[in-house]
Amino acid sequence: MASASASSSGGEGWEEMTLCVKWNGKEYTVRVCADDTVGELKRRICEATTVLPKRQKLLYPKVGPKQLSDDATILSTLQLKPTLKMTMIGTVEDEIFVDQVDGPEIIDDFELVQEDVTDIKDKDVNQQKLKRRISQYKIELLNPCREGKKLLVLDIDYTLFDHRSTAENPLELMRPYLHEFLSAAYAEYDIMIWSATSMRWVELKMGQLGVLNNPNYKIAALLDHMAMITVQSDTHGIFDCKPLGLIWALFPEYYNSKNSIMFDDLRRNFVMNPQNGLVIKPFRKAHLNRKNDDELVRLTQYLLAIAELEDLSQLDHVKWESFIEKNSKRQRHG
Ligand code: MG
Repeated sequence: MASASASSSGGEGWEEMTLCVKWNGKEYTVRVCADDTVGELKRRICEATTVLPKRQKLLYPKVGPKQLSDDATILSTLQLKPTLKMTMIGTVEDEIFVDQVDGPEIIDDFELVQEDVTDIKDKDVNQQKLKRRISQYKIELLNPCREGKKLLVLDIDYTLFDHRSTAENPLELMRPYLHEFLSAAYAEYDIMIWSATSMRWVELKMGQLGVLNNPNYKIAALLDHMAMITVQSDTHGIFDCKPLGLIWALFPEYYNSKNSIMFDDLRRNFVMNPQNGLVIKPFRKAHLNRKNDDELVRLTQYLLAIAELEDLSQLDHVKWESFIEKNSKRQRHG
């Protein structure tokens, strides 16, 4: 049994609501806005219960299960009855880990057209979501930010690690040259790792790969799916992305749009800051591709070549390969 009450603050649709969700015999309180999506509600519930959003099933007697789609708003889904009863059914990841080798599923990338991108990052509603995330999310520094360093933000799944293949030892699924890459990048960049999965998964994976205790580099911080925001595009519907603006707002004295770069195999993840994103070739089928994948070696060259520039956001990271070529030619010819 659960109940919810809505208390009004601000304009229509922006009322903050306190929902009470019952799970495993306990009640949890989550705060959301009425115009948040059900997906966002699940993220809040995850915060309280640690059950990943994709594992959650929300039961609300007044609404059929078909209507509880993740991209519908809470307002339209629950129709704000004075008394809401909501129950969540789901399993925490710890238990799932026992029989599940691979991580949470990630759907294929899609190409957003330019108008889409401009529209999404400038939309007031998305800027509001970012603001809310900035006020809610805490980034815990594992190591202090360093004066004068740029910022490198890295995705995990398919970027540093093939999370869909299986192996006896997770090191077999690590992208080749990972530690060499991080060691070299660390000279010029503070490094943060941001995954669309849970913090538990991020810590587990990075710990297994030896990224968190390597003597040659230090990781500044880890971020998880709770730091993401949900945006809507006219052509591709609703999806989650990783707004660097969150990091810039929390560490304004160190990082900004000019000194940050982010690697991810999904372009949509940097839709809120398209000038700072580099789409990395996904590292899949580790057993087959382990011998030939030198993406991180070549990207090290790129990172070090651009490290001396004042403003990284002036670069077109799509052309990173030709940038290295031109750069090395320039150096050869003195
Ligand atoms: Mg990925």
